[in-house]
Amino acid sequence: MKAFEATRHFFYQAADQLDISDELREALLMPNREIQVQVTIRRDDGHLANYIGFRVQHDHARGPMKGGLRYHQEVDLDESRALACLMTWKTAVVDLPYGGAKGGIGVNPAQLSKNEIERLTRAFVDQIHDIVGPDTDIPAPDMGTDYQVMSWFRNQWEKYHGFNPAVITGKPVEEYGARGREEATGRGVGTLTQKMVKRLGMSPDQSRVAIQGFGNVGSHAAKFLHEGQFPIVAVSDITGTYYNSDGLNIPKLLRHKLAHPKGLLEGFDDAEHLPVDALLKLDHVDVLIPAALGGVITEENVDAITAKVIVEAANGPTLPVADERLNERGVTVLPDILANAGGVTVSYFEWVQNRQHYRWSLDRVRQELDRTMNDAFESVWQMASQHDVSLRTAAYMIGISRVRRATELAGLA
Ligand code: GLU
Repeated sequence: MKAFEATRHFFYQAADQLDISDELREALLMPNREIQVQVTIRRDDGHLANYIGFRVQHDHARGPMKGGLRYHQEVDLDESRALACLMTWKTAVVDLPYGGAKGGIGVNPAQLSKNEIERLTRAFVDQIHDIVGPDTDIPAPDMGTDYQVMSWFRNQWEKYHGFNPAVITGKPVEEYGARGREEATGRGVGTLTQKMVKRLGMSPDQSRVAIQGFGNVGSHAAKFLHEGQFPIVAVSDITGTYYNSDGLNIPKLLRHKLAHPKGLLEGFDDAEHLPVDALLKLDHVDVLIPAALGGVITEENVDAITAKVIVEAANGPTLPVADERLNERGVTVLPDILANAGGVTVSYFEWVQNRQHYRWSLDRVRQELDRTMNDAFESVWQMASQHDVSLRTAAYMIGISRVRRATELAGLA
């Protein structure tokens, strides 16, 4: 199933509960604008290389559109459209004054040098600079991009439009970035995992966690949960699954990642080394955290999942058929649009700081992030109990209602 089809399915589930007419459904679901551009660079070896860049601006009823830039070989129009749509509901669930957008380039950044990634980023900005801006569409990091890419993006954009760091978030802390932005998604995932486990009557030190993906999100979530006394029995990245039934030594794992030239876990020997796909099928896991690609929990592997709780740190990790099966089995799924909203929340704080030329302390960022995530969790939990629906449908219901209200207030001609 294609990514946008899955998003549409979840949207319809919530729209049924909200009794939204067919015509309004289509108006809410249809992306406002989609662009596809040529991104051509000269490789270090002198050859030309052509890539395709995308930006999908899904909805702006609640404010400027917001969402990351992904550099990954699987990026295409359908995926960008699905992720842009998720951003619309995500910013609404945590009540940020934003709409949703997403984009990226279909490229494997691991195959490019740093200079090539810089040229790629600048070439992309040359193609899309006139449709992004602090009041229209504000990009941010996502898979395969980081603060350095954000810095190049801003620098190139400012060559056309003049100084305005609020055009992009996730910038380096020394260059108008917000303190705590890098840890934000992982911290949010950690805070809500803790809350949810307690709510379900489980205790953190008895809740065995497995995390798929050890990039920015997975590694920060691991750090946070480790500090919260959770035993983390398995983590994985493209080099395999690293497993220890007594709990992995997370500080050591983090040091290993930091020392590795590509930030990978390759060569970590204080754990059992299993194949990449073993992580989802491990026995005796209580909390599963997919923190990598979308579409990983499928009809084929869902029955092998032993966890009672799934926290979607990744965007779109669960396909609709698998989601239904998990609901039937009584597995509690904390949906992506709530679970990983910590990142865009601190992006919002960065944008606010940039616009005010004022800097918050790390403590303030963390405090406001924790409050935002807690409030959103409580409203979603309450909606789910009131309507006897899954947390995913409840989160979509809240997001969609807010977007519908803004759309109606603005006036539908
Ligand atoms: N890429 C992140 C997400 O999927 C962050 C987006 C942002 O900060 O604007 O939520």
